[in-house]
Amino acid sequence: MTDPQAIVIGAGPAGAAAAIGLVRAGTKTLLLERARETGDALCGGFLSWRSLARLEKLGIDRAALGGQDVTRVRLFAGRRSSETALPARAMGVSRRRLDSALQATAEKAGAALERGVHTTAIEGGSVQTRDGAVLSAPALFLAAGKHGFRGFPREPAPWQRADPVMGLRLRLPGHATLDRLVGDAVELHLFDRGYAGLVRQEDGSANLCLAVHKSRLDEAGGEPAALLHALADAHPQLGERLAFADWSRDVDAIGHVPYGWHAADSVPGLFRLGDQAGVIPSLAGEGIGLAFASADAAVAAWRHGGAGAAPAFQGQLAARMARPFAIANLVWRAGENPRTAGGLTLLASCVPPLVRWAMHATRIRGD
Ligand SMILES: Cc1cc2nc3c(=O)[nH]c(=O)nc-3n(C[C@H](O)[C@H](O)[C@H](O)COP(=O)(O)OP(=O)(O)OC[C@H]3O[C@@H](n4cnc5c(N)ncnc54)[C@H](O)[C@@H]3O)c2cc1C
Repeated sequence: MTDPQAIVIGAGPAGAAAAIGLVRAGTKTLLLERARETGDALCGGFLSWRSLARLEKLGIDRAALGGQDVTRVRLFAGRRSSETALPARAMGVSRRRLDSALQATAEKAGAALERGVHTTAIEGGSVQTRDGAVLSAPALFLAAGKHGFRGFPREPAPWQRADPVMGLRLRLPGHATLDRLVGDAVELHLFDRGYAGLVRQEDGSANLCLAVHKSRLDEAGGEPAALLHALADAHPQLGERLAFADWSRDVDAIGHVPYGWHAADSVPGLFRLGDQAGVIPSLAGEGIGLAFASADAAVAAWRHGGAGAAPAFQGQLAARMARPFAIANLVWRAGENPRTAGGLTLLASCVPPLVRWAMHATRIRGD
């Protein structure tokens, strides 16, 4: 594409949603994605009721996604467990399915999606790519996601620096017993220095995702599979589910997830989206919600204020993130501490409205 008015870096949920909004607003948009094929990104695959509503605003029908309905959240900590109905129907769906639908919608709307383009740097209104090209546009939308982007450091909260958090993911093949155990719930298994989230997905398999401190992985010799075996031995309910794991498949891993970080500001012409705008603890299941909400707000800011609106957009988004981030951080820290995780689960089973309040309070609001 020649002379784009907007360049979006990264075609994950944030970038693809921004591209859809931009082209619908009449902006000539170039969407750059480093992957040649849409993969199954490391993520829990839980789409909240608000994320589903935002998807429908983007023109993607929830029924067409074909994910598994999720109607309840189940917590496990030691011998305790609790179950609470979600405020509304949510979904378990693979990132391959979700990202494919978003990218197809962006292309259909008129965005130029170029795959296999690895952006390496941003300078002024230009982006450089690994093959040496320099592309310019009045507005850049940085949506490179969880892997970080050179020149845009994302520092975790000070208390995490000494013991950073890693993300792990293992797919559990579909099995009738696993279907019965998990059903239409999203499960959160709390353990010392981490949690595992489990939800069924469109093909009947289940996605097991962990956020765990590095020290815990080190205790297992730095081997994700060894950590999972140790957790299965120590936590019978998790062990019951892990019995269905296919250990011949690799455990996907990502290091140094800067939970709780957010971008406080930006410069004119640069809109930061999704995980490049802020990283909410994944236990809240709101990362994709933030990706959509940030894309929506950035497009509105660009339409009304042009490139100069980027700093105000970033500041306003940071303000919208403050409360959900604070509550998600609090719940996560209580959940990963063995001294408080049991109490949290007991509270959840005795006061279900509190769980529903927390689920609402950790959504990005204001649109
Ligand atoms: C363990 C874990 C579990 C999670 N579970 C959930 C959950 O269940 N529900 C939920 O809502 N959120 C969850 N999240 C959070 C969620 O995955 C992220 O918040 C969400 O993926 C952010 O979307 P994004 O578009 O900003 O980034 P990403 O999904 O990371 O997408 C970024 C895209 O940019 C591309 N890209 C990267 N670098 C470049 C480059 N240099 N040039 C070009 N393209 C590039 C990538 O290939 C990718 O396609 C979880 C996160 C973790 C770590």
